[in-house]
Order: sequence, then structure tokens, then C-alpha cells
Amino acid sequence: MFNRSDYISDSQWNRFLEFSKDLETPNLVINLNQIKFNFLKLKDAFPYAHIYYAIKSNPGEPVLKMLAELGSNFDVASRYELDKIMSLGVTGERLSYGNTIKKAKDIKYFYENGVRMFATDSKDDLRAIAENAPGSRIYVRILVESSDTADWPLSRKFGCHPDMAYDLLVMARDLGLTPYGVSFHVGSQQRDIGSWNDAIAKVTYLYNSLEEEEGIKLTMINMGGGFPAHYIQPTNELDVYASEITRYLHEDFGDELPMIVLEPGRSLVGDCGILTSEVILVSRKNNTALQRWVYQDSGKFNGLIETMDEAMKYPVISSKDAPGEKEGEVILAGPTCDSADIMYEDYKYKLPVSLKAGDKLYWLSTGAYTSTYASVEFNGFPPIKTYFMK
Ligand SMILES: *Cc1c(COP(=O)(O)O)cnc(C)c1O
Repeated sequence: MFNRSDYISDSQWNRFLEFSKDLETPNLVINLNQIKFNFLKLKDAFPYAHIYYAIKSNPGEPVLKMLAELGSNFDVASRYELDKIMSLGVTGERLSYGNTIKKAKDIKYFYENGVRMFATDSKDDLRAIAENAPGSRIYVRILVESSDTADWPLSRKFGCHPDMAYDLLVMARDLGLTPYGVSFHVGSQQRDIGSWNDAIAKVTYLYNSLEEEEGIKLTMINMGGGFPAHYIQPTNELDVYASEITRYLHEDFGDELPMIVLEPGRSLVGDCGILTSEVILVSRKNNTALQRWVYQDSGKFNGLIETMDEAMKYPVISSKDAPGEKEGEVILAGPTCDSADIMYEDYKYKLPVSLKAGDKLYWLSTGAYTSTYASVEFNGFPPIKTYFMK
């Protein structure tokens, strides 16, 4: 159903097979070199931007370490991520606390560890920051409406209306904080580049009105993540995103851009992982059923949570794939005793008719939101194990 070489070159594939041949399944193999390549490509595409890697997308230590060495900054969502990134020698001035939902004592903890850049989207959170992180730089996250073209929307829960953002930035100044900028996230795996244009227009309105009416001059725009990885639905390439978004910025801000921050997650690590699972059972629900059920040892609770509502459609190939091999439609399900543990049922994947227990399935482009986005031991199954290939 999928052409493996559309996603990964022969040489990379052979290297992966060699590296993973003796690993227990399910497992996730992360290609560090490819992450490095993607990081450098992103820097190249947005030479003016400051990159804050969104740790949550793949918090593997070798990944963080390598990105730290390459000069990346980091967007941190919790005190646990903070401990982890600081244990690798990254100091507070390279970090932002980007979660708008935080306990007062955690704000204090970040402040004590040297973090001075905080996101917010509400009055109570802002007051907590003023109290526990005095003088810090504040950026306010605004709501943007582009969820129908993002495969994993991040709207509703985060951000506030631009009018409220205005009030919060004024309030930040009045509380002795530094009104620093505005942030947004157009939704993860955002396929409509125009979403950035709409969001930047809202930021521009805030920049201008705050300066005219309050004399507040903002410094920074944080454009979040949303850049794509390669799943089965086509997207534009990164350089198209970059040239369009850069054009939007110059249209609104002229030659002198504010400080621009990007918080990539998926686009850096998504394509750099392959999840290998083993087929446990192939069955039919009645003798004449057209579709087979394929149960395999990875699922929603150990690595494939982003198949929720079939949102992310990973390219899946099998160890039985071969030219001319006959294929048929399958329903793909995980190993646990929860009927929610079905990855694809509406969207029909096709796998070889000869597929049987013990065969392997390779889930391509599974480097993002898989390794730690898993349950601890539902039904006794452990979280998926990650291996890092140079
Ligand atoms: C998750 C997240 C990101 C990363 O988004 P991607 O679409 O994976 O690039 C960036 N910023 C914030 C605030 C996030 O929560």
C-alpha cells in the first residue's frame, strides 16, 4: 500500500534493519543523524529565528543532548522536563516555560533555576508569575482558529482572545513584569500555511495597538510549532512553509522583524523514528468477512496514541511486502483488552494477504509523540522501549 522508498532511502532502511534486527518488539528506533539534519535544515529555512525545541515531542536524552550541542533552546512544559534538560547542562537562559497551566510553586522552581521567560493566557496565572518570578519576560498566547486543517489541533485549551491578551500585557507591565511578546500555535501538523498569516495578523494588531495606546513596545513573536512530518497525507515541504511565513512577517512588520521564536517538535523528530511491532494474530469475525483484523503488539497505550480518532495516519509496511504481493484490507488493532485500542478501522489500510503471526510491521514517521506518550503498564504492558541510532 505504501512505497517504502517514498519515506526512507534504501541505505537508511538497510542501516535501520541491521541496527534493529535483534531488538524485542515493540520498539522504537530513533535516527539521531536525521534529527540533526532536520534541525540544520530548519535553521537554514528560518535563519533569523530562535529555535526552542518542544521537549515533549521526543524527550529522549540523546535527542536533547544533541540538540543542546547544536545550540538549540528548549520549550519546557513541566518541572520534570526542567530537571531533565538542566541535568544535561542547559541553563535557564536557554529555556522558556511555555505551559500556560502551572502551579505557583512550579513557577517559583523555574525562577529559582534561572528561567525568565514565561507564557501565560490568564489573569490568575499572570498574578502567580508576578509573585513567584518577579520581573520576568511575559508572552501571551492567543487563540487562533485553524483547527480543521491541523491533524492534531491544539486550540481551545490554550490561548486567549487577542483583546484579553492586550489586557494581560498591560497588566504584566503594571505588575512589574516585562511585556515581551505574543505566541500562538496554529495546531500540530498544520497543512494550511495560510494559518500563520491569520495568526500573524492578530499579533500585528496587538503590537500596534499596545504601542499606540499604552506605549508598550513588544519584542518577540513566538510562532509555536505546527510544521509537518511526512505521514500519508501530503503536505508542502518545509522551505515552502518558510518562504511563505517569512513573506507574511515582512508584509506586516517591514524589514525589521521582531525577535522570532519557533518551537518545533514534530517537524524535527517525526520522520526520524520507526516503530517495529510484531503481528500477534490475524483473524476474521465471520467466515465471509472481507476484512481481516490484524492484532499486533503496539497500540494506543504503548506508542500509538496519536492514532486517536485516526488523526495521524502513519505509513505502515510489513516484512511480507514485496512487489506483486497480493494485499487486502485490514483493521489494525493493539494488544490490550480495551476496545479503544484500535488504530485504524474507518480508514482502510492494506497489508499482504499472506501476513501471519510473527511477521513484523514497521510504522514509519513515528519519532514524535510516541516514546513517552504511553501508559505505564495498562494490562501489564510496559511503555515502548526506545533505541537511538547514530
Ligand atoms: C506541543 C507544542 C509545540 C510543538 O508543536 P509541533 O506541532 O509538534 O511542532 C510547540 N509549542 C507548544 C507550546 C506546544 O505545546
